[in-house]
Amino acid sequence: MLENIVVAGAGLGGLNAAYELASHGISVTVLEQKARDTLSYDWEDDIEKGVFSEYNIPLPPKEFYKEKRFWTFVSPGNVHKTRVKQTPEHTDYSINRRIFSQVLADRATKAGAIIRYGVKVIAPVMESNAVVGVKVDNGTIYKGFVIDSLGANSILRDKLEPSFGISRASDKKGIFYAFRAFYNRTTVDPELNTNKAYLKHLGGDGISWCIDRDDSVDVLIGKVGENDKEYIDKALIDLKGDNPCLGSQLIKCGEIYSIPVRYPLTLMVANGYALIGDCAYMTIPMLGSGMASSLKAGKILADVISQASNDAVDKLWKYQVAVFRTFGAQHLAIDYMKRWILGQDSAILNDIIGSNLISDADFAVVSRGGMLKLTLIQKAKKALKGHFSLLFKLNDMLMKMNKIYKIGLSIPDKFVTSKIVEWDAKIMKIINDV
Ligand SMILES: Cc1cc2nc3c(=O)[nH]c(=O)nc-3n(C[C@H](O)[C@H](O)[C@H](O)COP(=O)(O)OP(=O)(O)OC[C@H]3O[C@@H](n4cnc5c(N)ncnc54)[C@H](O)[C@@H]3O)c2cc1C
Repeated sequence: MLENIVVAGAGLGGLNAAYELASHGISVTVLEQKARDTLSYDWEDDIEKGVFSEYNIPLPPKEFYKEKRFWTFVSPGNVHKTRVKQTPEHTDYSINRRIFSQVLADRATKAGAIIRYGVKVIAPVMESNAVVGVKVDNGTIYKGFVIDSLGANSILRDKLEPSFGISRASDKKGIFYAFRAFYNRTTVDPELNTNKAYLKHLGGDGISWCIDRDDSVDVLIGKVGENDKEYIDKALIDLKGDNPCLGSQLIKCGEIYSIPVRYPLTLMVANGYALIGDCAYMTIPMLGSGMASSLKAGKILADVISQASNDAVDKLWKYQVAVFRTFGAQHLAIDYMKRWILGQDSAILNDIIGSNLISDADFAVVSRGGMLKLTLIQKAKKALKGHFSLLFKLNDMLMKMNKIYKIGLSIPDKFVTSKIVEWDAKIMKIINDV
């Protein structure tokens, strides 16, 4: 059993792994640059409900979470709107991020983990093709197996020797640059003030949203690859026109945040090292996937570590296999769909939303990160309505989504380099062909 674990960053996956490992009696130290009072974000985000019972995750006190309201998807140019109703078991929770992180941090501490706040991790310590610890800003080297939970811009991942074979920071196309800000509310009308998500808002490669919260209006304006003030200003004016509740007084935030929106890394382990959370997999902000997948991975990784006789990459590979079979393969498929959608003309997306080719039930599945399936009967019925070319394009996209999903599930069981290279090449071929 591994005896000394360093968790770099108090990300959700790292905190969950720290709790699980400490509960197994393993010595765990979490190194976090922020103070406990400023952990995570000062806002609410959506998270799938099932993760709490299935992965033994504590909910914060009742006043810090509630069921999220239904989304309305708005097609490019505001041409069509589709209200997506989820069943109660599929309705996410909207959860206070800061309180949730504090609950998880305190739980890890109670189980015996040590959390050192205000410590900045600056580099990995590497010896003979293995990570053996980390350097921090006050010069101390923490020895042990390293769990990298530093988020999208992990400095550890980016400073690893290339010989480890782990991809460094994503290119710009793999990052969603999201402006997030909270404004005052000017009117309160439950019918008008629904959660709206604008696909390819104003033709940009991304989404915007406008959510009427109890005390403010939550605005996100995001684009893949780049974002700038000019686009944000235009999008804000457009959102105001369509959302009478949205005032002009900025209450909090108002910065651009990076969210990884790329496929999961096909190598997320090395000797003495494993990546968890946003530094390894993508997030889909609207779907409540980033938090849930980090938490799931925390439990998976802790189970693998607590049963491993040493921290060699072939032992840790089990973690990567379980991640791909639990959610990674699905993330591959969603990444394919996202790339496909971004590559389509606005007119095609308007047609898809407006033609009812995809039913409200289909939208409900996609909006919670599920796989979109058109049955043959549905297809035939819709085809008769004259959507042949659209149907063809959609069908091709669905087939490729299914294909990449199956490749994801077929991840080699054992750490055999030639097999992993072959598997990775199959994934890249589909991604690069979008
Ligand atoms: C605008 C926005 C909206 C989002 N909406 C949703 C949503 O609705 N649903 C959802 O599930 N997810 C959402 N996410 C994504 C979600 O925040 C992440 O997927 C989730 O928090 C998992 O991230 P993580 O734990 O890997 O990293 P993070 O939460 O980024 O945590 C990394 C931690 O490492 C610390 N750290 C970083 N560098 C250092 C260093 N050098 N030294 C020490 N500590 C360091 C940071 O301070 C931080 O505490 C959203 C993200 C953003 C930005």
